Amino acid sequence: MKDATKCLHAGYTPKNSEPRVVPIVQSTTYVYDTTAEVAAVFDDPTKSLIYSRFANPTVMAVEEKIAELEGGVGAMCTSSGQAASLLSVLNLCDAGDSFISSTEIYGGTVNLFAFTLKKLGIECIWVDKNASDEEIAKAFKPNTKLVFGETIANPALTVFDIERFAKIAHDHNVPLIIDNTFATPVLCKPFEFGADIVVHSTTKYMDGHAVQGGGVIVDSGKFDWTKGNFPGLTEPDESYHGITYTDTYGDAAYIIKARMQLMRDFGTYPAAHSAFLLNLGLETLEVRMKQYCENALTVAKYLEKNDLVESITYPGLESDPGYELGKKYLKGCSGVISFVMKGGKEKAMNFMDSLKLASNEVHVADIRTCVLHPASETHRQLTDEQLVAAGIEPGMIRLSVGLEDVDDILADLEQAFDKIR
Ligand SMILES: *Cc1c(COP(=O)(O)O)cnc(C)c1O
Repeated sequence: MKDATKCLHAGYTPKNSEPRVVPIVQSTTYVYDTTAEVAAVFDDPTKSLIYSRFANPTVMAVEEKIAELEGGVGAMCTSSGQAASLLSVLNLCDAGDSFISSTEIYGGTVNLFAFTLKKLGIECIWVDKNASDEEIAKAFKPNTKLVFGETIANPALTVFDIERFAKIAHDHNVPLIIDNTFATPVLCKPFEFGADIVVHSTTKYMDGHAVQGGGVIVDSGKFDWTKGNFPGLTEPDESYHGITYTDTYGDAAYIIKARMQLMRDFGTYPAAHSAFLLNLGLETLEVRMKQYCENALTVAKYLEKNDLVESITYPGLESDPGYELGKKYLKGCSGVISFVMKGGKEKAMNFMDSLKLASNEVHVADIRTCVLHPASETHRQLTDEQLVAAGIEPGMIRLSVGLEDVDDILADLEQAFDKIR
């Protein structure tokens, strides 16, 4: 099936007389005829349902759909994108371990990696995405367990060279984890370029309608954990009656460990109703992504010519430093544009306050056009140095182009420019 078809049909195929739409299974638990059957389920919880803290049929239908869209062997939904990033790392790193991350990633992930994981004894080693192969290789330590990057960085909008980083990671026997939130599997399938694990904030384009927060981890099933130093996967798990994930679950070891161990213990699983709403968004993901890309490219070309705009970042523009990588990795550059206003922070804020159609909100990838000022909003916890490392300037505006008629979006921008001129 092609993506548009998968968006509608993957993950749920009703049998004779069953509901057409994925049903909301609003139950915390599941009934069995005998005690022996319940006992057997505990021996292999991947075979049947136990409890909705780590598995629910509505959520599992969505997991299956996303796994098929990404081309992975399995997926696990989480209650937020942050939970997905957290668990994707904790599934490989223990206290005393380290991992490598590109500096150009989402601000919330920077906080998680730089501060919260540090408190748990896990060190994040930051690398510049433009560093040479040799420099990146030097960043590895014997305890380094993974490399992390974002396909299209939020909000820097740089394109990550997935193939190059996958090769460097694999040369060191560690996997590459890609946050594919902005691209979605419709615009980029990181597994095709060598990534091993993908995470998403489904809160963004996948949901698309700004109704439901969520996240997901997808496993390509391609990384050979037995070749690296991953005792959590290749040695018996004391907390699960001595199961060895790679022996018992083969290709799906990573994603099953994430569920059986981490989801069991942290419980950041979405509710059935949340998954139902996410599924509604996913059903139209393919058609929406095409239109976001088309609208955003038109808006980007308009902004590029505007005399009040100092610079613009949108990898779909030929003048953009990310254009070549974008051509290689992306079928379109998403709806998100960032641009820097002449006159800095104050001008940027005045411009944003003058918009009528586009709303001022802490969100991105909404179906409606919206704007955000990273330096004073999402990234205000970062130091000036971290802001620069994350590619953020004081006058930068992040514009998330929605699915309104593009003429109306352009007219709104034009009247706001006129007001501050
Ligand atoms: C929003 C976002 C996250 C965090 O997701 P939440 O659903 O807000 O927890 C992670 N990565 C990227 C790229 C994001 O845009």
